[in-house]
Amino acid sequence: MAEEKIGVYICHCGTNIGGKVDVEEVTKWAATQPNVAVAREYKYMCSDPGQDLIKNDIKELGITRAVVAACSPTMHEPTFRKAASDGGLNPYLLQMANIREHCSWVTIDPVAATAKAKRILSAQIHRLPLNEPLEPIEVPVNHDVLVVGGGIAGIEAALKLSATGKHVTLVERNPSIGGHMAMFDKTFPTLDCAACILTPKMSALGKDPNITLMAYSEVEYVEGYVGNFTVKVRKKARYVNTDICTGCGACQEACVVRKVKSEFDQGLGFRSAIYIPFAQAVPLRATIDPAKCLTLSKGKCKQQTCVSACGPGAIDFEQKDEVVELDVGAIIMATGFELWDAAQETRYGYGRLDNVITSLEFERISNASGPTGGEIVCKNGEAPKSVVILHCVGSRDQNYQEFCSRVCCMYSLKFSHLIKEHLPETEVYELYIDMRCFGKNYEEFYRRLMDEGVNFVRGRAAEVTDVALSPDEEGRLVVKTEDTLLGIVRRIPADMVILSAGLSPAHDAKEVSQIFGFGCSANGFYLERHPKLEPVATVTDGIFIAGCCQYPKDIPDTVAQAGAAAAGVLGLVDNDTVKVEPTISYIDPEKCSGCHICVGLCPHNAIQYNEEKNAAEVIEAACKGCGVCVSACGSNVPQQRGYLDVQIFAEIEGALAV
Ligand SMILES: Cc1cc2nc3c(=O)[nH]c(=O)nc-3n(C[C@H](O)[C@H](O)[C@H](O)COP(=O)(O)OP(=O)(O)OC[C@H]3O[C@@H](n4cnc5c(N)ncnc54)[C@H](O)[C@@H]3O)c2cc1C
Repeated sequence: MAEEKIGVYICHCGTNIGGKVDVEEVTKWAATQPNVAVAREYKYMCSDPGQDLIKNDIKELGITRAVVAACSPTMHEPTFRKAASDGGLNPYLLQMANIREHCSWVTIDPVAATAKAKRILSAQIHRLPLNEPLEPIEVPVNHDVLVVGGGIAGIEAALKLSATGKHVTLVERNPSIGGHMAMFDKTFPTLDCAACILTPKMSALGKDPNITLMAYSEVEYVEGYVGNFTVKVRKKARYVNTDICTGCGACQEACVVRKVKSEFDQGLGFRSAIYIPFAQAVPLRATIDPAKCLTLSKGKCKQQTCVSACGPGAIDFEQKDEVVELDVGAIIMATGFELWDAAQETRYGYGRLDNVITSLEFERISNASGPTGGEIVCKNGEAPKSVVILHCVGSRDQNYQEFCSRVCCMYSLKFSHLIKEHLPETEVYELYIDMRCFGKNYEEFYRRLMDEGVNFVRGRAAEVTDVALSPDEEGRLVVKTEDTLLGIVRRIPADMVILSAGLSPAHDAKEVSQIFGFGCSANGFYLERHPKLEPVATVTDGIFIAGCCQYPKDIPDTVAQAGAAAAGVLGLVDNDTVKVEPTISYIDPEKCSGCHICVGLCPHNAIQYNEEKNAAEVIEAACKGCGVCVSACGSNVPQQRGYLDVQIFAEIEGALAV
């Protein structure tokens, strides 16, 4: 092997590394290591002057390999590889030594940290001579896009992409798009009518020639890789021919099964077995609920009134699910959230005590198009004289969800306003831990509510009970709580208790993320590639996330994130080709025994069996370089470029050599 000239570049990262590791000493030591031609230190190696040190040494000193001892490669490997490339060096001849996350941040003793930094660096210095120049693989890009989820995030992303001329398929699980926002009456803090700002977008999407809307559908299978995904979507049978259904609603009026709890109204109102979920639904088409329809579930609806009521003859009991295959270049996940199940907090009596309701139920009760026509009433039809709103139900609670759901303080304030607007005489209490009014004009909204006469009580409620201790409590609910500002325990009689439940990941978020090949965070929401720098990308190139599927957020942040995801997609599908990492596996067909083990284990479906050669082979563009096949093969046949066995062993030797 020809002698290499290695350049070593050690970063202080301000005091992140320099505050713990003796960078000067490591630099002096590095200069004495085998093949090292130059060792330099710099305050911020990722800055332009820092990168220039690398570029200039390649040009002027003829450096043939380089190692940057700094932060995690996830952070700045692309930065330094680009610097190497700009200097004229193949970028894969540069290695990162992570002496920040793996060393200075996690080592208490500076002497131990300095010694550890040398070991980490030595590992890379020893492996560098074995690095081979690699070239990125270029693959063609399909210009079409898939958006999964038709809440405000998915709608916004689809419309943004369509405006640039891209073809978008939007897959929504429910019969209509709209998501949670479609259920709201008003939105904080401006109190805009939710329908007035959402329905024009829904309708624009439904009519957009660049958007194919697949409502009542779900993605079942995804294969492929950035720029080239193949997706199988199950279009569930509606038992209604949507090409001829006009959405007139005559069928639902005629249906004999009329007391099915409406999902859209949170079970507070009813729908028929054949139904349109709400008046502004997009697509405005009827759907038959097969579990409730007497013809489909029992074969015994003698009248079949829907059939006779339907002018165009759209009812089709023979309709079957259809699986549609799509080819797309990029995907946006916008599958949103679910409300935390308030029944888990048994001490608040949800599901047991009448008039203890969830926030989404209140949204429907206060909505003019809701089950009570917008009248805020208790179960007995009477207006409540006292309403208590409990914040942080299921949120900021180590027994349930530790995180703050971010929108509950604000939607609780919105509820207080709506109650005061409808029922000025009603006493309203907000029981809060602290008020989190973080957004634009949010604090001002809070102040406004104080002036509207709402009672703010600082404390987490201990219990909601119907056991009365005084005549005033007779026949009513009572909220027992500590008032931490007054330092007393209070009993607040109420006719209605609203549980401001937190936002949870969708119940199947994990399974869905696995279909698409990315992961979830510990709290169950989809995991972004980098929380600060790439909050809308996932670890799978070409798949982006937007809205509450990533983490709880309000509508403005959701819309902003949807725009960012659309921009990320556009930056990809606007090109004809995309470069993918060459650090992937390869299989020598001469050595492979054709046992198939790696084929089944590959999480990216990137290995196929070639019958003619009786050997496995890697689909280069699909391989993500995860190394599963390398570690699984009993004969040690698959190898991964950039992580060859010899390179790994050299790293180990280097780490042990100090
Ligand atoms: C009670 C309450 C009141 C609120 N009030 C306000 C307010 O006044 N102002 C404000 O700014 N914010 C408010 N919010 C927050 C607001 O609801 C969210 O910011 C917003 O709905 C997020 O939109 P989204 O598209 O990310 O998710 P969602 O609205 O949840 O939409 C997700 C969509 O994806 C679909 N979907 C899910 N899984 C799949 C799948 N696997 N395949 C296909 N489709 C799928 C769902 O059916 C749904 O249509 C409130 C939240 C709550 C709970």
